[in-house]
Amino acid sequence: MREAIHTVHRTNENLCGECLVQDIRRRVFSMLDRLVEDGDRVAVALSGGKDSSLALYLLSEYQSVERRKFDLMAITVDEGTAYRRSGIEAARELTRRLGVRHVVVGMRDIHGIDVAEIRSILPRRWRRSACTYCGVLRRWAINKVAREEGATKVATGHNLDDVLQTHLMNLARGDVPAMVRSGQGVRSPSPLMVPRIRPLAGVREREVAAAALHLGLPAHFGKCPLTTGMRVGFRRSIDELELAIPGIKEDLLSGLWAVIGEVRASGAIGVELRSCKLCGEPTTGEICKTCQMKLELQGLAHRPLLFPRQPQANSNY
Ligand code: SF4
Ligand code: ZN
Repeated sequence: MREAIHTVHRTNENLCGECLVQDIRRRVFSMLDRLVEDGDRVAVALSGGKDSSLALYLLSEYQSVERRKFDLMAITVDEGTAYRRSGIEAARELTRRLGVRHVVVGMRDIHGIDVAEIRSILPRRWRRSACTYCGVLRRWAINKVAREEGATKVATGHNLDDVLQTHLMNLARGDVPAMVRSGQGVRSPSPLMVPRIRPLAGVREREVAAAALHLGLPAHFGKCPLTTGMRVGFRRSIDELELAIPGIKEDLLSGLWAVIGEVRASGAIGVELRSCKLCGEPTTGEICKTCQMKLELQGLAHRPLLFPRQPQANSNY
C-alpha cells in the first residue's frame, strides 16, 4: 500500500502521490484541450517556482501524448533578486531535462532597472510596493519576448488560489474590465498582446506543491519574500473561509467565472485601445501603465530608464 500524501478536501479521500498526479493530469489535460490549438507556440512564463514548473512539466507531457500538435518553450525574467537566482537555476535544470527551449532575460536589460534597485530607491510609506512595480514590468517583458519568439499563447503557473485572489482583489477595487480581461486565453483587440492561459487554474496551491514534490521537479517552493499588500490578506482570509466552508474556493471561482462570462457576453465592457506614446504597447490612455510606473521610478532613481519601442507601434487596433 502506498503512503497517502494528500487529502481531497470535499471527500476526505486520501491519495498517494501517484494518484494525486494522475488526478491533476486529468484535470489539466481536459483544460488544455480547450486552451491549446494545433499549430500553437506556447511560451511558459517560468519563474522556477513550483507552479510554473508543474505547468511546464504537464504541458510537456500533454505535448508528448499528441492530443494537440504545438511548440513549447519557456521564458524566465531575472528580476535581479537573490530569491530569483535559485529559481533560475531550477528553471534551467527543468528545461534541460525536458528538452525545451529556454530564454532568460534580465529586467535590467529590458527596462534599465531591476527589483533590487527599485527596493532601494522607494521612499518609506511610498504608495506602491516593489512587488507592484515588479509584477507590471515583468508582465510587459514576458509579452515582448513571447511576441518576438513567435508565441501564440503565454502559459502562466497561476493556480486556483492565485486566480481566485486576483478576481476578488479586482472585485474589491471595482475593476470589472480587469476581471473580464483576465479570463482564459482572452484575445486582446491588439495583435501586440499574446493571449494568456492558466493550465493550473483548476488545481489548488497545496495540490500543486504536493505533486511537484512527488514528481521531484527541480523547483523552489518558498514564496517570494517581497509579496505584499492586499494579496497576502486575501490569501489568509480565503484560507480561513475554506476551513469553515470546505469547497468554497471552487464554488467562489466558478461563481465569479459565471458572472464574468455574463458580462463578457453582454458586450458591456468594450475598450478602445491606442498605442502608448512611449513604448507603442496597447493602452486605453496616452501612456501605458508600465511606462507610467517607469516614469515614476525614473524620477526616484534620478537617471533615465529604458523605454524600448515595440516594432508594430503604429498599427491600428
Ligand atoms: Fe516580483 Fe512580487 Fe512576484 Fe516577488 S511576488 S517576483 S516581487 S511580482
Ligand atoms: Zn508604454
